[in-house]
Amino acid sequence: MSDAPVTIPATCGKAAFVAAGQTITVINTHGTQVVDTWAFNRHDMKEFMSMEHSRATHHHMIPKVGDAMLTNKRRPILTILEDTAGGIHDTLMAACDRYRYEELGCKEYHRNCTDNLAEGLAELGLTPPETPSPFNLFMNIPWDGNGTLSFDPPVSTPGSYIKLRAEMDLVIAFSACPQDILPINGKTGATTEAHFTVA
Ligand SMILES: [Zn+2]
Repeated sequence: MSDAPVTIPATCGKAAFVAAGQTITVINTHGTQVVDTWAFNRHDMKEFMSMEHSRATHHHMIPKVGDAMLTNKRRPILTILEDTAGGIHDTLMAACDRYRYEELGCKEYHRNCTDNLAEGLAELGLTPPETPSPFNLFMNIPWDGNGTLSFDPPVSTPGSYIKLRAEMDLVIAFSACPQDILPINGKTGATTEAHFTVA
């Protein structure tokens, strides 16, 4: 793949093959869009980036520059090289799905990150083995001293980005989260496109 920016359309999914050693830059083009992110071993989709395995090794609620994200087999799959987006991302929240929107009162189908993962991978002829917990880029889930969580707007700015190095041949998948009921994509609830490059 060239390093031309690829669009993750608003409320949609997108996936790409990435070779070991390549760099993935995920750009919050308009500054307020959460991008759910997954990575799968290119040669074994049942091995994938795992938030719980990563936290057990890098010891951060939010990974920092220099941290490696691990797979469910505890092997490095992505390393964070650079972050201009304020360092606020989320490793705690499950991907949104039809059940989440039903819980939030939706009576009709609402686009969601779980289906976007499947749609993005389907463009590559792939099927997710399950919906792993995503690395929710730009998502702001602060906690207070009692451990209570909240859903807050992103702190990222237009054009800010996070840069990741592939530590194995992998499939990267993104969803521009369609959440427009909670303020995680900004207070207006407007969902937008985002972009990524692979170089
Ligand atoms: Zn979502």
